[in-house]
Amino acid sequence: MRQVCIYSVVILLGVATPSSALDKTLRIYCMDANGGGMTLIVTPLGESILIDTGDAWPDHRYVERILHACADANVVEIDHLVTSHGHADHSGGIEELVNRLPVRRFYDNGNSGTRDAAYLEATQGKSLAMRPGDDIPLAQDTMLDRMQLHCLASNLKVEGFDGDIHAPIDGLASEGTSSGLNARGAIFLLTYGSFTYYASADITFNVERHMVYPVNRIGHVDLYLVSHHGLGDSNNPLLLDAVQPTVALASNGPGKGITPEIFERLMAVPSLEAIYQIAYNKSYGAEGNAPFDYIANRPGQTGNWIKATVYPDEGIFEMEVSRRGVPIRAYAIKPLFVPKPDPVPGGGRQR
Ligand SMILES: [Zn+2]
Repeated sequence: MRQVCIYSVVILLGVATPSSALDKTLRIYCMDANGGGMTLIVTPLGESILIDTGDAWPDHRYVERILHACADANVVEIDHLVTSHGHADHSGGIEELVNRLPVRRFYDNGNSGTRDAAYLEATQGKSLAMRPGDDIPLAQDTMLDRMQLHCLASNLKVEGFDGDIHAPIDGLASEGTSSGLNARGAIFLLTYGSFTYYASADITFNVERHMVYPVNRIGHVDLYLVSHHGLGDSNNPLLLDAVQPTVALASNGPGKGITPEIFERLMAVPSLEAIYQIAYNKSYGAEGNAPFDYIANRPGQTGNWIKATVYPDEGIFEMEVSRRGVPIRAYAIKPLFVPKPDPVPGGGRQR
């Protein structure tokens, strides 16, 4: 982890968008939901995916932030709305969102904790339950690298593993036995060419084991969404070792994550070049926070997003916080060798 040395990253000021006829950039906006989840993904073809809608409280202000990011990305409707799980900090905003923006398709983890009466009304009962191994259908273009949004885990099932999530595994640590809503979250891997983004939601320690053991089904991750806002019971060292993230991004809040324990765990990951945070956590000092330039919302600030832009031809992705005057930092896309998973009856992930 080299974040403390600011000069170890390439700093590009005033970088222009590549001037090819076809815009190949992929954009990912991680928005401020005060410690909730809201991520907007916009593909080069303009297809939009929103993963989670933040909380309804207070005053639907988080939906306003989604609309702001949509305006920045020229998005006028959501093509795919994914609800990872039923906690209010991830699903509470859906009622207001559908009032404000057309949504074409809905997806969730198929769990009754997600599909409460308000959710069923907002989705008009048309939400599709994602199972591990499923892909959300995304438009492709022969001029572009393949775009895939792949479900790794959902509702206590993991691709390639059908057993008891909490059963002890020889030689591996386990933590907790909760089968609550976090553990049931729908977790995705977005790949665009060799770029990978891991959308963790609030997935828990024991579920994380099965995504990388005995087969690493994720491979290397360029951009790692810190699970559960950087709180405990998540971000299993086994998974971090396996995916070797380049950049970690925490959708935390001023009073919610990253805990110093998780921060220290992330800092210890050798591949990690930077941790970005949505908010400065006022409970901790430097031991639990990234440098200010990597934080979208300093004390007293709200509503700023962190945006990742992927340039496949240049082999880089850029991280940008939405406050003015903060340098955009570029990181190399680093595909690593990924052993092929063992054949799984019914079709395992092949990449
Ligand atoms: Zn959460």
